[in-house]
Amino acid sequence: MRVPLLAGNWKMHKTVSEAVDLVKALLDGVGAPTDREVLVCPPYTALLAVQPLLEGKPIGLGAQDVFHEVQGAYTGAISPVMLRDIGCTYVIVGHSERRQYFGDDDAAVNRKLHSALAHGLRPIMCVGESKPQRDAGEAESVVVSQIHGGLAEVTAAQMNDVVIAYEPIWAIGTGDTATPDDAQAMHAAIRNVLTELFGDTVSSQVRIQYGGSVKPDNVDDLMAQPDIDGALVGGASLKAEQFLRIVHFQ
Ligand code: PEP
Repeated sequence: MRVPLLAGNWKMHKTVSEAVDLVKALLDGVGAPTDREVLVCPPYTALLAVQPLLEGKPIGLGAQDVFHEVQGAYTGAISPVMLRDIGCTYVIVGHSERRQYFGDDDAAVNRKLHSALAHGLRPIMCVGESKPQRDAGEAESVVVSQIHGGLAEVTAAQMNDVVIAYEPIWAIGTGDTATPDDAQAMHAAIRNVLTELFGDTVSSQVRIQYGGSVKPDNVDDLMAQPDIDGALVGGASLKAEQFLRIVHFQ
């Protein structure tokens, strides 16, 4: 059985004190979920401050990106060892904003993913097409190619620790979400690729999150789809009430 993963990507939001307040509010309302997993990915600057609050609690801690090297002269970069050291268990790689603004291509995403796995972090690998690509009928081929590139040289055993997030770029931060049917179709296509690459058993176990304007009023329909195993949530993860409603999807 795949346990849905509800993850909040806070992006470049929240000072340390705001992050602490948000985590406290989430802990107040999260309850003790047993059939779903909850994760927050604050900015680097807030990770150390929120980590002690999350110790032993049902909300995990993740980072929004990682560099593939372990240490060295890489100004501004953060290594997987550093993230493990402060209690992160997950890291997002290949978010479309990293691809767009920081030049992360599939090869860079693949290096980050391997480094995360090698150092005990579970990567959440984001894939997704742009609006022009969707309009040109290329959505599936773009996503399939990102899956192949990002997962190059990954073993079937390692896939136990990998989460895929399908995030159509045109739906991120726009309020313009994919319909549950369209999202399901892409998730099924991704699972087919995983079957080709790793076999049935692995592909039936890998979690594929949907991301792109997930909100309290659309989460139930999206999560009802058979191949959607949770959500990667941006804007709505910044407000405790909204994220808690998403976490408690029916
Ligand atoms: C995201 O940043 O991963 C995301 C899905 O953002 P939003 O929920 O705001 O569309």
